[in-house]
Amino acid sequence: MEEVKSGATNKTDLNSAVIVLGAGAAGLWFSWRAARAGAQVLLLEKTPRTGTKILASGGTRCNVTTSLDHPQAASLFGERGSRFLKHAFEVLPPSAVREAFAELGVPTEEAPLDKVFPRSGRARDVRDALEVAARAAGVRIICNAPGLAIQRKENNWFVETPLGTGRCQHLVLAVGGRSFPTTGTTGEGYGWLKELGLELTPTTPALVPLTSDESWIQQLKGIAWQNGEARLENRDGRVLGRRRRPLLFTHQGLSGPAAMDLSGQVVQGNPEGLRLLLDFFPQETRQETRARLIEGAGRKGSPRVSRCLVEPLPRRLLSAVAHAAELSGPDPRALALDRAARHRLVETLHGLPMKLSGTRGFEAAEVTRGGLALHQVDPFSMRVNRLSGLVVLGELLDLDGPIGGLNFQVAFACAEVAALALPQPD
Ligand SMILES: Cc1cc2nc3c(=O)[nH]c(=O)nc-3n(C[C@H](O)[C@H](O)[C@H](O)COP(=O)(O)OP(=O)(O)OC[C@H]3O[C@@H](n4cnc5c(N)ncnc54)[C@H](O)[C@@H]3O)c2cc1C
Repeated sequence: MEEVKSGATNKTDLNSAVIVLGAGAAGLWFSWRAARAGAQVLLLEKTPRTGTKILASGGTRCNVTTSLDHPQAASLFGERGSRFLKHAFEVLPPSAVREAFAELGVPTEEAPLDKVFPRSGRARDVRDALEVAARAAGVRIICNAPGLAIQRKENNWFVETPLGTGRCQHLVLAVGGRSFPTTGTTGEGYGWLKELGLELTPTTPALVPLTSDESWIQQLKGIAWQNGEARLENRDGRVLGRRRRPLLFTHQGLSGPAAMDLSGQVVQGNPEGLRLLLDFFPQETRQETRARLIEGAGRKGSPRVSRCLVEPLPRRLLSAVAHAAELSGPDPRALALDRAARHRLVETLHGLPMKLSGTRGFEAAEVTRGGLALHQVDPFSMRVNRLSGLVVLGELLDLDGPIGGLNFQVAFACAEVAALALPQPD
């Protein structure tokens, strides 16, 4: 199989029945499946290697899909997204992604929070398996070959690259979004789609850590809380979203799945009008927490608040809660709390307020929200309705899901549908 490095001769043959731009999750999966079904596929990748984002994913373990069933998984993309994904997730449900990887020699296993990882714990195995399968099916992969421009003339598509111009009948755009640009995704696909006269939903960073200027948050740097719930509210107290997932305090604000899952909404709103409320004990009601404190106050030895909670909070975190609740000290005795102080403590344990200044932006975002508006794409083939021969996959589409393998699930399932719908060669 061919792998052309940068500066290669411009005699490289770039003509093919199908040209795929972008050897990421969607491009690799599509190329493999389409070539296996008999299509002639040329896969052009901008960077020196395939699947850079796969390698970086899931903390280099690659959360390859979800253990949820396909209706549950689709429902996490909102009403519009789940309608669009219904067919793709029926054709390639998460269980089928796992079977496909097992057949490629990468068995998977379930992890907490509905995640699925390769059993080896190595993202590289996922990337290598897809690349090897694609090459074995006959896909020509050329790295260091960025698409610079695309054009449609009569019934053909033309792709300009530094190696020359390629011609194809079917052009598949799988160049990803704008998130984590160090992995090669700098958003040029959106410009091409716009030039073709297509409608784009504005793009914003999603699955990105939140930032806050509050000094007490910075003092909590490094503390992780597994059983938390983050609640995002607007200025009027309307709840915009809530996620019960782990929280991680950072030197700039808040990360972890709960915060990152809500981040897409933070970017959309004015961060100054939004606030996050952190519930450290969502597994119990306020009344139950209050009852624990009252029971503790009556206990022999007069325990401190920290000894009365369902689960002990880290010292620095309890101290921040006590400060916000205006208690007399960082961990007073339960008996020392009067009714009003107890009420403030319970409210703060179930809703420590945090002012937001924004997010860490595309540089640190795992996905891009927005993209090609879905009403222009046929969900049964991923073809763009008005432009015959053009297929759009992966993060370029206006689809983004929460943390938990769902974004790869979308990339693979849409790619599968597109490969199956590709007209068979004569
Ligand atoms: C740090 C991090 C961790 C993540 N972890 C997970 C996870 O564990 N589970 C999960 O489901 N999702 C995860 N994601 C999200 C997931 O990686 C993406 O949703 C997914 O990769 C999107 O697939 P894609 O094929 O559309 O784009 P990508 O996988 O980003 O691939 C696009 C490819 O196109 C190439 N390209 C760009 N421009 C051009 C061009 N002009 N010409 C040719 N090639 C081009 C890029 O170099 C890249 O290789 C993570 C993302 C990040 C940043």
